[in-house]
Amino acid sequence: SEQTYDVVIIGAGGAGFSAALEAKQAGASVVLLEKMPTVGGNTLISGGEMNAAGTWVQQKMGIKDSVDLFAEDTLKGGDNVGDPEMVRVLAENATAAAEWLKNDIKVNFLEDHLFQFGGHSVKRALIPEGHTGAELITKLKTKLDDMGIDLKTNTKAEKLLTDDSGKVNGVEATGANGTKITFHANKGVVIATGGFGSNVEMRKQYNPEFDEKYMTTDAPGSTGDGIVMAQAVGAALTNMESIQTYPVCNPVTGVISLVADSRFDGAILVNQSGKRFVEELERRDVISRAILAQKGGYAYQLWNQDIGDISKTVEVHKDEYDMLVKEGVLYKADTLKEAAEFFKIDPKALQETIDRVNKFAKSGKDEDFKHRAGLKDMSKGPYYIEKAVPSVHHTMGGLVINKTTQVMNEKGERIPGLFAAGEVTGVIHGTNRLGGNAIADAITFGRIAGQEAAK
Ligand code: ADP
Repeated sequence: SEQTYDVVIIGAGGAGFSAALEAKQAGASVVLLEKMPTVGGNTLISGGEMNAAGTWVQQKMGIKDSVDLFAEDTLKGGDNVGDPEMVRVLAENATAAAEWLKNDIKVNFLEDHLFQFGGHSVKRALIPEGHTGAELITKLKTKLDDMGIDLKTNTKAEKLLTDDSGKVNGVEATGANGTKITFHANKGVVIATGGFGSNVEMRKQYNPEFDEKYMTTDAPGSTGDGIVMAQAVGAALTNMESIQTYPVCNPVTGVISLVADSRFDGAILVNQSGKRFVEELERRDVISRAILAQKGGYAYQLWNQDIGDISKTVEVHKDEYDMLVKEGVLYKADTLKEAAEFFKIDPKALQETIDRVNKFAKSGKDEDFKHRAGLKDMSKGPYYIEKAVPSVHHTMGGLVINKTTQVMNEKGERIPGLFAAGEVTGVIHGTNRLGGNAIADAITFGRIAGQEAAK
């Protein structure tokens, strides 16, 4: 069958929803295509935190921040491989994007708490209610329905269509039951298909290090379709070898552990010998490599109730906590000895490590790994100990876009009619995406893509 819209958007994650809402707001007729039975992609299963500089929460908390500092942190965090101009666009527009989520989409953000993910100079990550992307996706979906935008789930985009001049003017898709559907686009097509973390073959093609030995935190739909489709109409790719692992994931399933966000409030990492081996607030790539260098290629994260009372991750992520306990990879122990014995760590060695941590907590100086926030006293139980492995989490590379999210070809020219936003693009994060920057990227550029495609 054939259908015609002004704007066709591929992929219903954070970027796709934002693009759809903005395009509709600008007066365009819009269809949003999603290949999975349900919407949300990686955005849904993420922690949902979003960086922005100078937000209402920073103001309330008295935190000084600036667009310059946000841009600088982002660039530096990716070894200055990102495009400075594009990073600037992100930093300049993320605050308005966050306000849009709050005011127009009615996303509830915590009013008195921000995360400071690794690599950021200040606390700048807004935290949605429930600490997951579900708050974002639920509210975006509600708005989509309110605005009467057509959403087609179980509808996989297969191919971009072009006219004689090379302008992208439609999408060929496969619907439920294998039906072929052609979506004509009067104005433009937006690719918002996310990354390729769940596609092992594609990972290996661009960086052989990330083979089967890694599981992934990613949604099953993250298979790089948008990259392949755009390439077929001449799109340039960049930074494809940069693949990020998240250091602390479930060793059984590969799923990211949000309970382990206690790391940002002082939890430590130890190896099977009960020894620390890395600064716990280091960059994700550094921690992941350090974990893989330990015997067995895994680590344990350890924290006590005092730290748990600050981070509240066990309460907020109760379902995940129960699952981890059931799988035998997380254990709550009254004493340190009991925590050590559960995972067959030498209790004496672990006690020595904690004694050192307590000493450094008191002096305010971590002489071993220079913990940047300062270690916390862990003399009192109960304790939580969780086994963890790194898992593929984000693919930094992808399509080259310009400031108005137009997709560029190998010659550095715009491909007419084609826009892209979110993880499918490759120009922002360089070698390493900082925490809270994926949502900022998806929402900020998703909105721009929607506005531009509707012109
Ligand atoms: P972003 O954060 O960039 O928005 P997400 O991973 O949150 O990325 O969302 C990408 C969405 O795109 C996912 O829901 C995924 O299932 C969907 N998707 C991927 N490939 C296709 C395709 N070929 N056709 C339709 N939807 C797709």
